[in-house]
Amino acid sequence: MFIGHFALGLCAKKIANKPSLGTLFLAAQFVDLLWPVLLLLGLESVIVEPGNTVITPLNFTNYPISHSLLMSIVWGVVVGGVYYIFRKDRKGSIWLGMLVVSHWILDFITHRPDLPLYPGGAKVGLGLWNSLPGTFLVEGIIFIIGIYFYLKSTKVKNKTGVYSFWGLIVFLVIIYINNLFGPPPPDSSTTIAFVGLSQWLLVAWCYWIDRNRTTVS
Ligand SMILES: [Zn+2]
Repeated sequence: MFIGHFALGLCAKKIANKPSLGTLFLAAQFVDLLWPVLLLLGLESVIVEPGNTVITPLNFTNYPISHSLLMSIVWGVVVGGVYYIFRKDRKGSIWLGMLVVSHWILDFITHRPDLPLYPGGAKVGLGLWNSLPGTFLVEGIIFIIGIYFYLKSTKVKNKTGVYSFWGLIVFLVIIYINNLFGPPPPDSSTTIAFVGLSQWLLVAWCYWIDRNRTTVS
């Protein structure tokens, strides 16, 4: 799942309105932001295998530190805990922790059974990615709900608040369509890792959006 994770970050603004949208995105995508680092360190691995599922040519051969259920709960506690230390916002930190874990749940719905329950444990996944219309429908609906809740829970401070937000939405849709229909990436985990690392720029983009919009309480 790709835009679905971002969509939950957008939805979360409705409930936990103190964290910046950047922090909400960071939490929702945390394990995918960590994953490229682990690939570069050689601690996790991926290979390119067109047809692995209809949606992605990536075969996630080993990623227990970023993508096991147990470790995503650990990362959720870490992210929520660090946020609490800095912001003393209990509600925000709990929701951020849950957003980190939500990533695993959404991946569980979409991935084929390649997600370990714990490092070395049984691998699970419902495999929605085997259906193109199913994936489009589920991710599309979550994404539209996310946009709706975000727009309802914030209002613009200036014109940048409009362009920065809609620019991101258009950009995410373009990347998503390119992921689905573009050519597979080269079979190099280093290249895949660098593409993955570029997602940190999306987090920065969200901090920029948040600075140009205010929360409606
Ligand atoms: Zn993931």
